[in-house]
Amino acid sequence: MTSPASHTPDAIAELARIWRRYEGDPDGAIRAITETAAHALGVERASVWLLDQDRGELTCVDLYEATAHRHSSGTVLKSAELPDYFAALATEETIAAEDALHDPRTREFAASYSAPLGIGALLDAPIRSGLRLVGVICHEHVGAARAWTATDRKDAAFLGSLASLTLELKNRAMREALLTATLESTGEGILACDDHHVLAFNRRFIEMWKLDVEALRDVSAVRAHIKQHTDPLSTLSSNANELLVGTAGDTVDVLELTDGRVFERCSRPQLVANKIVGRVWSFRDITVQRRAESALRASEAKLRDLAIRDGLTGLYNRRHILELLDEAIQRSFVDGERLTVALIDIDHFKKINDQRGHLAGDAVLRDFARHLEQRLRASDLVGRYGGEEFVIVLRSAPLEAARRVLEQVRVALGDRPEDMEVSYSFSAGLAMLGADGGTPTELLAKADERLYEAKRGGRDRIV
Ligand code: GH3
Ligand code: MG
Ligand code: MG
Repeated sequence: MTSPASHTPDAIAELARIWRRYEGDPDGAIRAITETAAHALGVERASVWLLDQDRGELTCVDLYEATAHRHSSGTVLKSAELPDYFAALATEETIAAEDALHDPRTREFAASYSAPLGIGALLDAPIRSGLRLVGVICHEHVGAARAWTATDRKDAAFLGSLASLTLELKNRAMREALLTATLESTGEGILACDDHHVLAFNRRFIEMWKLDVEALRDVSAVRAHIKQHTDPLSTLSSNANELLVGTAGDTVDVLELTDGRVFERCSRPQLVANKIVGRVWSFRDITVQRRAESALRASEAKLRDLAIRDGLTGLYNRRHILELLDEAIQRSFVDGERLTVALIDIDHFKKINDQRGHLAGDAVLRDFARHLEQRLRASDLVGRYGGEEFVIVLRSAPLEAARRVLEQVRVALGDRPEDMEVSYSFSAGLAMLGADGGTPTELLAKADERLYEAKRGGRDRIV
């Protein structure tokens, strides 16, 4: 048995002192640990290995060879090929093999590894993360068998702890990098804050809210900014403009900004051990989508209107007034209400066209449509039947009542001021549901018959 030539525990103290320097460079820290391990324990080779989840493989994170001053990594050892060694590892005890070639825990390596490399002794200390075994730090002594001292074991255990911390830091750095990449990869603006501090945000958030990074030092400044640039009436809940951590649950609402943009805002509480410690807000710019939606709604409404209205007068067109008449008749059958139909025709309309031109004729048609709308009840339905003919459906009106209403319309048209450009009159024929028929066709035929009578009787009258 030989004793190590350069046993320098001070190297470990030095490493522990400078270890924090490697915070941003966990790979560098691991290399420093294997080098220190080789020097401190006076071994030719020192290495750090990571165990996979189901403990079937060990992967070399770093192997340092002192003589060549060389680092390498990547070798994989499988438990299926080294069952005794993996069983020894599973005990989570330090494996201090003083005679590596014959020790039952390490002799599996003898033929392929230890003997060819001249390794006589191995000291392998577990690396734990919390209570979990995550890897092993190996010290390979080249030469004859070696009695590992209590100090050797203590140093190996300490180096194992440093390796464990370093691997933790590496994991954390990777998690943080992943989190940052995730935050920045989304098109949504994201802000995480508690009642007092901004905890995290992404660039998109700053861009969307046109914020100064400086403002993010103070969560109340962010709140004030959002409140100032949001239409207070755009949201339903009273504290919608606030960014309050609140109690529990997710929220979704829509903010209309004073500059015309529209944001959808979602939020979710941040929980640690079932306690709310903050809230994450995400903002999605839905301005374009909103505009497209309202344009679509407007054009749908316009299309619907085009389909049921007459282009010249704005009254219901022939097809629609006939549909409405049919529905009104069905309703009357159910509720027993009276219903009267009027067919109206402007008198001597051809003369207006002939004397004043077609455009003046059009103006009269529009004027008459407005006159009907103004003089009739909102419940009466008015449509242009064609040319200078109109249909009125008077609901809840027996024949005599309908006649009175139309009489008023007729008299009012004649009583209009002298300065009206064109004066004209109309004739009308009435037909009542029941007495004069039970279908639109029957009622309109009867009304047409009476309209003809009115014309024959001298026009400007209701029959
Ligand atoms: P009556 O008193 O017997 O009803 O005589 P009238 O001249 O009103 O009836 P006639 O049916 O002879 O003429 C209707 C005219 O209405 C014929 C047609 O050219 C005109 N007309 C139909 N539609 C329109 C329109 O949209 N605009 C204009 N300006 N004229 C129209
Ligand atoms: Mg006519
Ligand atoms: Mg006419």
